[in-house]
Amino acid sequence: MSRIGTTLRTPAELVAHGLARAADLPDLEKVAARYAIAVTPDIAGLIDPDNPDDPIARQFIPSADELKARPGENADPIGDHAYSPVAGIVHRYPDRVLFKLVHVCAVYCRFCFRREMVGPGKDSALSDKAYADALAYIRAHKEIWEVILTGGDPLMLSPRRLTEVMTDLAAIGHVKVIRLHTRVPVADPARVSGQIVDALKVEGATTWVALHANHASELTAPARAACARLIDAGIPMVSQSVLLRGVNDNAADLEALLRAFVECRIKPYYLHHGDLAPGTAHLRTTLARGQAIMRQLRGRVSGLCQPEYVLDIPGGAGKSPVGPNYLLRQDSSSGEREVTGEMRYRVTDYCGDVHLYPPE
Ligand code: SF4
Repeated sequence: MSRIGTTLRTPAELVAHGLARAADLPDLEKVAARYAIAVTPDIAGLIDPDNPDDPIARQFIPSADELKARPGENADPIGDHAYSPVAGIVHRYPDRVLFKLVHVCAVYCRFCFRREMVGPGKDSALSDKAYADALAYIRAHKEIWEVILTGGDPLMLSPRRLTEVMTDLAAIGHVKVIRLHTRVPVADPARVSGQIVDALKVEGATTWVALHANHASELTAPARAACARLIDAGIPMVSQSVLLRGVNDNAADLEALLRAFVECRIKPYYLHHGDLAPGTAHLRTTLARGQAIMRQLRGRVSGLCQPEYVLDIPGGAGKSPVGPNYLLRQDSSSGEREVTGEMRYRVTDYCGDVHLYPPE
């Protein structure tokens, strides 16, 4: 396949470039009427059109499966709306807010939990008044220590606008940390220019960048260089990934991804269980499978490579760790013979062997 020079945004363009089948066009048009599509040249270049199970295609090329809604799926699966005191702000935990400045992304992930809210057809950037109101809210709530710029993708803002936003936030005395969640370093690495990096460095607050990537092949040489530009400028990075069926729901692929993050100086942070976003059941896996994979990873990679496996509780109650439990209480009521006759612990090691630990 020849290199694609522009972002592909319609099913017809995907078919024309061999990334979707002409026979699927009617269904894909129905998907496109509801959910945004964008496949950048960098991402398109990673897809093997001859591989029906390509892990990059599964993330970005629309599928007729997106037309199937399942019970429990919800347009606002993690309850952003219930915790939004003013437009653009989600205040779920006392010490931090999400600040959603833009509703566009470089690419549109087929499993996106905000898929009903992001895309060119949805609300555009916050109006000047809404932006001012959001800043006033942050200013008035002195418990807000961290502001998380999220999506849409904040690195879609121009360097000039990003500079204004970062400067405005850093000028608020109690805001000490500004975190940006982005897919741009992998989807469009050239966008991480010197101007963007400069925009992220501000006096008065510490900037962190969380990179969203789900497969090791996304961390190409240009993507790694984009991350290095951020990190070399003193901006620490963490990762977030989504556990996705047919993309990374096995220990080997996740191991490769986590090692790639650490090689890039990016600390693995979150592995999200797939949210109940509409039309995404074909990409979700089970919690039991996620826990089994996490158990395997414990023995395969060092603690430096371990993310926390988390579930966003539907409705907005927040994130909870859902990884395997390695420590269980055992007491005399268990019926097992006790040395001490008191409670003690059973600790499972990375091989699955159980060891007893004495009571405290
Ligand atoms: S980059 Fe983030 S907000 Fe944008 S489509 Fe992907 S998951 Fe959704």
